[in-house]
Amino acid sequence: MALRNIRNMGDECLTKVCKEVTEVNKRTEALIEDMLDTMYEANGVGLAAPQVGILKRIVVIDIGEGPIVMINPVILETSGEQTGDEGCLSVPGKAGTVTRPNYVKAKAFNENMEEYIIEGEELLARAICHECDHLDGHLYVEKVEGALKDVNYDED
Ligand code: ZN
Repeated sequence: MALRNIRNMGDECLTKVCKEVTEVNKRTEALIEDMLDTMYEANGVGLAAPQVGILKRIVVIDIGEGPIVMINPVILETSGEQTGDEGCLSVPGKAGTVTRPNYVKAKAFNENMEEYIIEGEELLARAICHECDHLDGHLYVEKVEGALKDVNYDED
């Protein structure tokens, strides 16, 4: 297992539009494995490649139902609304209220570059939107209603 350094807000990588992935090679496979390891180690529910300094359109998500790998994700449809607290591994110790769609349908490629469709509601919909924003250089703090709050995470 290999952990990568998570870039924090203020790092240029988090403001860039990431490049499409054209092939999955050994380096891409290693990146995806490292992203999953890094996300689990940090107790996150999602991580985008620019958060570890790689400007490629790759995200990993796990809301507790197993790992999801999304390469070149595109949101196809959204509906409804949810308002709730959101955080980001690149903005440690903070959370803020963000309104997102309650339902998202997206397409993406898996590690074998096979295209698939994913539908998510609630937390999964929120995670897909949040991670896709990273690929276009956006952080959730741009969408926060009110102020960012301090969060104390219990270490256990
Ligand atoms: Zn994030």
